[in-house]
Amino acid sequence: MDYQSIIEEVYQEVQQENQRGKVANYIPELAHVNPDQFGIALVDLQGNVFAVGDSQIPFSIQSISKVHTLTMVFPKFDPQLWSRVNVEPSGNPFNSIAQLEYEKGIPRNPFINAGALVIADALCSKYDHPTEQILEFINEIAGKNSVSINSAVKNSEKNHGERNTALAYFLKSYKNFDNPVDQVLEVYFSHCAMEMTCEDLARSFSFLANDGYSIFGERKILSESHARRINALMLTCGFYDEAGEFAYRVGLPGKSGVGGGVAAVMPHKFSIAVWCPELNEKGNSVKAIRALELLTDKLSFSLF
Ligand code: GLN
Repeated sequence: MDYQSIIEEVYQEVQQENQRGKVANYIPELAHVNPDQFGIALVDLQGNVFAVGDSQIPFSIQSISKVHTLTMVFPKFDPQLWSRVNVEPSGNPFNSIAQLEYEKGIPRNPFINAGALVIADALCSKYDHPTEQILEFINEIAGKNSVSINSAVKNSEKNHGERNTALAYFLKSYKNFDNPVDQVLEVYFSHCAMEMTCEDLARSFSFLANDGYSIFGERKILSESHARRINALMLTCGFYDEAGEFAYRVGLPGKSGVGGGVAAVMPHKFSIAVWCPELNEKGNSVKAIRALELLTDKLSFSLF
């Protein structure tokens, strides 16, 4: 398969169409990002990298990091974790608070903010230095030093973190939170403020295309069964209230972030990361989704 030519074609077509959106500004620091950046990197299961555009520029991975934190927590807490967080698509915005009351403090899934806060809380219970260990873990599965925390982005989100703080206290009121709220929020804001390039992000997702085995870390990260389940969660919940649309148009398990990144996997074939900062009204990158739609059309395969 000539992945390089295909992603170059995709890149050109997306640039020609030039569908636009809006850079996230509810985290003020993210509003400063140059909106014209666009990169794609695909990594196959032999470790070959195919890249085009701004694939070597680090960007804020935001909610994509929720896949990394879930991976760290899942094997340590399975199955008890699933009494604290559900595995259902939310059909609601990522920062919705109303649904948490209807569901009596059990978030709909681990990828909306409320669910990711429960995961961050579980991480704080099991790891002594959670933030450092998240960075170490990602460097391991990417096979190189690949990640850093942008402290300006982190502080910017922290200073405007009323909604996530409210969600955390709301979870605590339902006794679904074990650690001090400030400590968990610190970990959550830190992992959302991690920066990676498209290439390194795609490398860090490679194990999910490979039944849980990381060719870069040279070890089994998750059992096959756990890897399949994370992919199922990405497919059904990775794009919040746009998860159906992404499954329909692209047909791959994927996860978006408000920094404009999307990471996705084609099981047994490749992992891919696409980044362009401009978002649609659901908070997902316009060009990244379009690029992945064109990619699976041109490849004539997806999960389906
Ligand atoms: N850090 C962001 C928040 O908590 C992540 C949201 C996202 O990427 N969808 O609001």
